[in-house]
Amino acid sequence: MTALTSSLPKRRFDVIIIGAGGSGMRASLQLARAGFNVAVLSKVFPTRSHTVAAQGGIGASLGNMSEDNWHYHFYDTVKGSDWLGDQDAIEFMCREAPKVVYELEHFGMPFDRNPDGTIYQRPFGGHTANYGEKPVQRACAAADRTGHAMLHTLYQQNVAARTTFFVEWMALDLVRNADGDVLGVTALEMETGDTYLLQAKTTLLATGGAGRIFAASTNAFINTGDGLGMAARAGIPLQDMEFWQFHPTGVAGAGVLLTEGCRGEGAILRNAQGERFMERYAPTLKDLAPRDFVSRCMDQEIKEGRGCGPNKDYINLDMTHLGGDTILKRLPSVFEIGHNFANVDITKEPIPVVPTIHYQMGGIPTTINGQVLVPDASGGQRVVNGLYAVGECACVSVHGANRLGTNSLLDLLVFGRAAGNHIVDTLERKAEFADLPRDAADRSLARLARLDACTEGEYAQIVADDLRNTMQQHAGVFRTQASMNEGVRKVAALRQRVQAIGLKDKSKVFNTARIEALEVENLIEAAQATMTSAAARTECRGAHTVNDYERAADDAEHPLGRNDRDWLKHSLWHSADNALSYKPVNLKPLTVASVPPKVRTF
Ligand SMILES: Cc1cc2nc3c(=O)[nH]c(=O)nc-3n(C[C@H](O)[C@H](O)[C@H](O)COP(=O)(O)OP(=O)(O)OC[C@H]3O[C@@H](n4cnc5c(N)ncnc54)[C@H](O)[C@@H]3O)c2cc1C
Repeated sequence: MTALTSSLPKRRFDVIIIGAGGSGMRASLQLARAGFNVAVLSKVFPTRSHTVAAQGGIGASLGNMSEDNWHYHFYDTVKGSDWLGDQDAIEFMCREAPKVVYELEHFGMPFDRNPDGTIYQRPFGGHTANYGEKPVQRACAAADRTGHAMLHTLYQQNVAARTTFFVEWMALDLVRNADGDVLGVTALEMETGDTYLLQAKTTLLATGGAGRIFAASTNAFINTGDGLGMAARAGIPLQDMEFWQFHPTGVAGAGVLLTEGCRGEGAILRNAQGERFMERYAPTLKDLAPRDFVSRCMDQEIKEGRGCGPNKDYINLDMTHLGGDTILKRLPSVFEIGHNFANVDITKEPIPVVPTIHYQMGGIPTTINGQVLVPDASGGQRVVNGLYAVGECACVSVHGANRLGTNSLLDLLVFGRAAGNHIVDTLERKAEFADLPRDAADRSLARLARLDACTEGEYAQIVADDLRNTMQQHAGVFRTQASMNEGVRKVAALRQRVQAIGLKDKSKVFNTARIEALEVENLIEAAQATMTSAAARTECRGAHTVNDYERAADDAEHPLGRNDRDWLKHSLWHSADNALSYKPVNLKPLTVASVPPKVRTF
């Protein structure tokens, strides 16, 4: 071993999971219950992971309150994805949904109940019965705190199953051998500032999204895309990163989310004239059309001068007709958010909202079992030995170019469980630990040493703020080719600045400046992947809307600007040379007939 690596303290586990959100803890539960020695690392206490902020619900065709089945859910998800989702993965997720929700119920999840004792379900954007005919009640909810209830339930079950938690530990880099097999991670203990080498037979990334590459975001401050950065630095491409979801209802000026469950319960979007404008754009689903669609309609209203307020720059979300009792029973947190972040009593007056960055559809490419995929020499794909990814950091891909609300919490449960099961089935309990390469931790130690040696240089925070503003400006709801091209140049310049960040405070104990500097090295990977992939995709699809390519719905060749002939394919961004390759979308489901691409109207 090199002097650097050999000096590190080491720990060994069968499986190491990076991330204690819903996906990481669903996978760890499966493994701990099967008797594996499993460790979960998290930058924050597990129940503070972003999953805790999920409000609206978990999608599953239980049919408790209106007729439903998984075929409808499958169809909605394919259409919602604007046909970029892989139909085998989507079928798998929608078929498994009722099972994982009932399992969660049996773990103790405190769902809201119907009078007959079944799980309460509310309508949600893009979820329909009978293939788009009418909205369906599919979102299984615990008031507007579904993620909170789910994360606490999973944490308690993990404690009971004796999962080991490393709380306030930050994973830095994947440890690999010469063949690219993953043998564990390097990690920083925040409390002491010490670095460790954590060796594992299998490593699973569950680090959540990178929503903090944008200035206005519903995401937690910890959502800096660390798993994406670790993968990108290890030569693993990032898939479909041009697709970012804007949620229609972030509180204007604050970014805090108001769940789509508001509209599920009957809230209405109104312009300055008080008009329910969504009736014009989506006659069938109205306010419950998918998020990309509603966000664009809101932006259109604002652009055409029908925005609300003195600057005509927001839309009103009106819940006053729902009545105080329903609001306090079904949307108690929304009531509090209105009060705290907009100074509005939502039972009496509408609340100002704007589309706000919310969710990353792309991520680390994986199989249905969570195994990470890379291109192979023959133009196909192969799995990376020892590495899995699940949750928002992964791209299976079930969300394609636009995710339906409630399908992420579902994704965490289905694919967290599937990855756990696959590891249980394939990892030999008695297998020896592979030999660590001599320089296993050198890369991480060099990154830390550079920060410690650098006394000049910019603050991480300033570079990060410039990056977020650049992304907001050049990769927003509406994109133009010229603006994206300029964004590519600006992000390349920002990468240079990231490499020269300085650290003035060299102390070790809980040094948050060091953590932030390390996070920016991950943000830049997610941001450059987004900007480069977006500028290359010369069409409109799902959340990726480029003014230059917009067309009418009846445009024979490119309805609504989508170009299936050239662009029905996944993007793969490679960090080493900031270049792209592509792979086909899987239009073949596992057992049912394919849903062929058609015009996406609601
Ligand atoms: C406000 C809000 C509301 C939402 N509402 C809904 C909803 O109602 N329904 C729905 O389906 N979806 C919803 N979503 C989306 C959904 O909640 C997220 O996609 C999902 O919770 C992500 O879960 P995850 O397990 O992938 O990661 P997260 O829950 O984000 O957890 C990531 C974990 O990784 C850890 N981590 C990250 N980097 C490192 C590192 N370097 N070292 C160690 N640990 C690390 C973190 O500490 C954390 O434990 C919502 C999202 C937001 C932001």
